[in-house]
Amino acid sequence: MFLDGARTVLAFGAHPDDLEAGAGGLLAKLAAGGAHVTMVVTSIPNRFEQRLAEARAGAAVLGAELVLLRDDAASRVEDYAMWELVERYDGIVDRVKPDLVIAHQAEDTHWDHFLVHRAVVSAMRRQRANLIAYSAGSGPAATIGTCFADITDHIDTKLAALGKHATQFSTAKVEAMRDRARAAGVSCGVGYAEVFTPLRVYL
Ligand SMILES: [Zn+2]
Repeated sequence: MFLDGARTVLAFGAHPDDLEAGAGGLLAKLAAGGAHVTMVVTSIPNRFEQRLAEARAGAAVLGAELVLLRDDAASRVEDYAMWELVERYDGIVDRVKPDLVIAHQAEDTHWDHFLVHRAVVSAMRRQRANLIAYSAGSGPAATIGTCFADITDHIDTKLAALGKHATQFSTAKVEAMRDRARAAGVSCGVGYAEVFTPLRVYL
């Protein structure tokens, strides 16, 4: 399956915890398989120091490198004009040269998530890489999709990474994410799964 062949992975989130929630299992799986995984956090909107520490701890659990657009102060995604956001992402894509990119889904109802989705799609205009989209929980039901990652062996790592985001995820909420992955697994015949939408796939 093409996802298993990814060696250089670049994943974009609007905020700390988005990637852990929507793609943490896949990122952990790819990192454990030897891929170099880079997680981009576009903005830390509040409680800067605490959420910065959470983002670093979450990425460390997943085995990923963390890239922050700003590591000195709180910011909002909308602080960036769209051209500026694309330009920043262009620089990251040029540096990382990914073969798999993971973006927020277009249907996400959180405006910041949609902006990041749109900027990532634009930043991918010159890069030959597979592109898939994840649900961070504010889009269509995460059990409906056409592309599945079997994260059965990595569900505990995903939940451990989520647990690092204590400002966002209570113990009960982390356990609810286990249920969500289990439900996704039932829909595709594995123990635990994350669901993605393919946006661009090279065969
Ligand atoms: Zn978010």
